[in-house]
Amino acid sequence: MKLPPFEYACPTTIAEAVTLLAAHDGEAKPLAGGQSLVPMLAFRVAAPALLVDLRKLAELRQIKIGDDGITLGAMVRWRDILDDARLKTAHPLLVAAVEHVAHYQIRNRGTVGGSMAHADPAAELPGVAVTCEAKIAVVGRSGARLIEAANFFHGPLTTALKPDEIITEIRLPAWPAQRRFGFAEFSRRRGDFAMAAAALFYDEEAGRAKNAHVGAIGVADRPIRLAAVEAAINGGAIDEATIAKAEAAAAASVDPPTDIHASGAYRKALIGVMVERALRSAAA
Ligand SMILES: Cc1cc2nc3c(=O)[nH]c(=O)nc-3n(C[C@H](O)[C@H](O)[C@H](O)COP(=O)(O)OP(=O)(O)OC[C@H]3O[C@@H](n4cnc5c(N)ncnc54)[C@H](O)[C@@H]3O)c2cc1C
Repeated sequence: MKLPPFEYACPTTIAEAVTLLAAHDGEAKPLAGGQSLVPMLAFRVAAPALLVDLRKLAELRQIKIGDDGITLGAMVRWRDILDDARLKTAHPLLVAAVEHVAHYQIRNRGTVGGSMAHADPAAELPGVAVTCEAKIAVVGRSGARLIEAANFFHGPLTTALKPDEIITEIRLPAWPAQRRFGFAEFSRRRGDFAMAAAALFYDEEAGRAKNAHVGAIGVADRPIRLAAVEAAINGGAIDEATIAKAEAAAAASVDPPTDIHASGAYRKALIGVMVERALRSAAA
């Protein structure tokens, strides 16, 4: 289908972009890679009067790695993450997750800010952001603010963003070199959205796991942390008994809906298996 008619603007500063969004009172939308927004226009799921293209905002394209963590500018593309050799050690969980995002063509255009704002419950980056306690930096007409990833996602395609706000950065806390992590995803074909996925990490002290963070993707209306699984992992060795406990706790923690891709019962079992696989990979 052809796109509905819309006005187009391509600002060269963040301030100009915010002014344009604010002036249109909810009738304007930022355009990043267009990989989700353009199909939504075609299907008439969205029909904004104005698209504010962010492509000329060079300051949103940076990846910064420092002692205080990793900062991804909102216009960083999936391809940029996979091409940045520093991230393989600076944040291996992020890289492992992004390897599952979509297909080459989409990875060449799709951005991290677009993915966060789109808030698909089956998307990988929102899941990593919630698991790692990322902060989302946004700017709007009333200034800049930081939103905890756990408070950012309100449901499918719904976030804490106000209509005049744009995401500028996603900030991930620093990643200790010895940290253990795992990412496991099941989808119908490689590159499809996850039917279920688990992202997890923990630190080790004297052979015991501590500081476990476990996130589940595709099994609720937003990415979630699995507190019962974290409790099952913390304080012990990652042996067969712990893995079995974690798998059972994961399945018991969620109540996924049934949709055209899978039944709720199937997804419930699947998240257990994803946690089991991610934990085995972390322990190995
Ligand atoms: C066939 C196909 C398969 C895909 N598979 C996956 C997958 O497996 N995993 C996955 O995670 N994604 C997948 N995607 C989605 C893809 O990753 C998108 O690129 C991404 O979700 C949106 O990023 P974008 O830059 O294209 O955003 P756009 O499509 O440009 O925008 C998406 C939404 O975000 C808003 N927005 C964009 N940037 C900002 C900003 N900086 N601040 C505020 N709002 C903003 C837009 O207004 C719009 O509402 C797939 C897409 C397709 C078409």
